[in-house]
Amino acid sequence: MEIKCATCNNSNKNIEFYGPFCADCAKKKKSAEINEEINIDKCSSCNMLLFGKERYNDSKENIEFIISHKIKKPTRIIELYNDKVLLEIIDEFYNKTILLNKEIRIRYNKRLCQVCARKKGGYYEAIIQARGSDEKIDRFINEIKRYLEEREAFITKIENVANGKDLYISDNLLTKSFLHNKGFKTINSYTLKGMQNGKRLYKVTYALYL
Ligand SMILES: [Zn+2]
Ligand SMILES: [Zn+2]
Repeated sequence: MEIKCATCNNSNKNIEFYGPFCADCAKKKKSAEINEEINIDKCSSCNMLLFGKERYNDSKENIEFIISHKIKKPTRIIELYNDKVLLEIIDEFYNKTILLNKEIRIRYNKRLCQVCARKKGGYYEAIIQARGSDEKIDRFINEIKRYLEEREAFITKIENVANGKDLYISDNLLTKSFLHNKGFKTINSYTLKGMQNGKRLYKVTYALYL
């Protein structure tokens, strides 16, 4: 039976149909439901993409992942040029799978990620008082620095003192696990820093003799 498209009068003898609509009109309708613009948060300091609670490297794969989640449909990037992206989107219309091509604009919202915000604010949760020869202290610093950076933490500042160096570190749990895993023996002291969500917050100082 011949059907004519409810919108453009095209016949089902010439083109595939989705319910009462020809494929052209069906694609136009579904495309119009998708925003022309998508906002992606980006750190103005480290340039990483921010989505949910995570940070992602600025790559085509990660942009595709974020856009798929924002559009809430399986989406593949066909082409990416600066702030414009040509997408292939898998959608559904009248219980049939329909493939859409759509060009959208990405708007990057620049803000600071938590890691960079803490770095700029001089944030720290633990201090390691490293004592010993310069050579041993420097080797220790290189080791802990690599460990922290692989886990999105960092050394906020390093202070030279008479008999060694004081390391201010952004994450106490990671500091603790590093010292423990590597078998470093420390003498620990705790100072009350304040309260957060009804819990006492302590700043921990680790005295380490290398
Ligand atoms: Zn039509
Ligand atoms: Zn950042």
